[in-house]
Amino acid sequence: MTDGSKNNPGIRIATQRKSLIQGLQQELAVLDQKHLLRQRRTVETPSAPNMKVDGRDLLAFCSNDYLGLAAHPKLAEAMQEGAALYGVGSGASHLISGHSRAHAVLEERLAEFVSPHIDNARALYFCTGYMANLAVITALAINKDTTVFSEALNHASLIDGARLSRATVQVFPHRDYTALERMLQQCKTKHRVVVTDSVFSMDGNIAELGALLAICERYDAWLIVDDAHGFGVLGQHGRGVLEHLNIKSPNLVYMGTLGKAAGVGGAFVAADATVIEWLVQRARSYIYTTAAAPALAHALLTSIDIIAGEEGQQRRAHLQKLIGLFRDGLHLQVWQGMPSDTAIQPVLIGDNAAMLRVAGNLMDQGLWVGAIRPPTVPVGTARLRVTLSAAHTEIQVLQLVQAINRLDQMSYVAQCFAEV
Ligand code: PMP
Repeated sequence: MTDGSKNNPGIRIATQRKSLIQGLQQELAVLDQKHLLRQRRTVETPSAPNMKVDGRDLLAFCSNDYLGLAAHPKLAEAMQEGAALYGVGSGASHLISGHSRAHAVLEERLAEFVSPHIDNARALYFCTGYMANLAVITALAINKDTTVFSEALNHASLIDGARLSRATVQVFPHRDYTALERMLQQCKTKHRVVVTDSVFSMDGNIAELGALLAICERYDAWLIVDDAHGFGVLGQHGRGVLEHLNIKSPNLVYMGTLGKAAGVGGAFVAADATVIEWLVQRARSYIYTTAAAPALAHALLTSIDIIAGEEGQQRRAHLQKLIGLFRDGLHLQVWQGMPSDTAIQPVLIGDNAAMLRVAGNLMDQGLWVGAIRPPTVPVGTARLRVTLSAAHTEIQVLQLVQAINRLDQMSYVAQCFAEV
């Protein structure tokens, strides 16, 4: 065959396009080989423990709907009411014409809700927690003369926020605040921002925010706390990690998500009113995006009422009981539970392929558990991420624990035979 592409630009472009796609296909094949290809499944029912997924009935332990509010009839009703009052789209960004009364009322309610822990509190509602984290880090990293100190196990959205800011980024080891203090001592930049998850999303343990805040105050640093997995769940009234650890500081900037325990979607940042005004003026992921549907904000008012009220307390108490049941019931010989008292209960397996086999086996038994691999967690620490919800029953949790114990036992026996 003669090479007609030399004289024919049309042929050259076609060949190039094909090779770009082939390049991606090769990358995908590499991921597949390493057991790192991710797979979406289609849920056909509301988010509740019993789901129909790709036509199969499964009992799910992988949602972050910690209080079981995502399918709550009162919230569905409030969403419909919101759509009737405000329509279904905001039509523009907040600083143009997209900021509706629903957003304003929600922000006032959220500010009031966290006010025992933040003086002069104001809140700002975002489309997602990811965007809220980008906003708050990039806005508080005022210029290049800033260092962002980022916890080693921070969520991807915090890592991306730090990268997007033009600041110098330093990572401090997981919960090693002595190391952080050393870094702050040596820091030469004018501005300092410390960023941490409160409840670590893949481990379930909690940052020692009291110690961290004391350090931040000593070194004039902001402390941005991502309470995605604490808001609504922790604290007697569901005010999250600030209530759970009883902390308060003018250096504190709080981010809570509203698509997990609150059951709806979006997120908010709460801080001193001046910080929030700075975000409104400067945070690009707030300014340059269409405001979330006002109906979401309207439904969230009902969600906060439930979280703050007696029903919220009962749901949190039930969840706490389930966490105890899971932890007490887990008896592992090969794999490892992790020291978590929260609704996130990981089971460490290590190898990607082994973890996928275990998750597949659980699914064959009708149990759906999150299968977490690198880069979400460090290499060699693939794990089942069990998440518990107030919507689970005790029997359902026992069913899962027994299934995990049985598989671990089988793995132990297989290991013994391999050694003989
Ligand atoms: N922070 C943490 C710790 C999270 O786990 C998540 C979501 N998985 C986010 C932020 C992002 O929140 P959202 O899903 O609302 O974008």
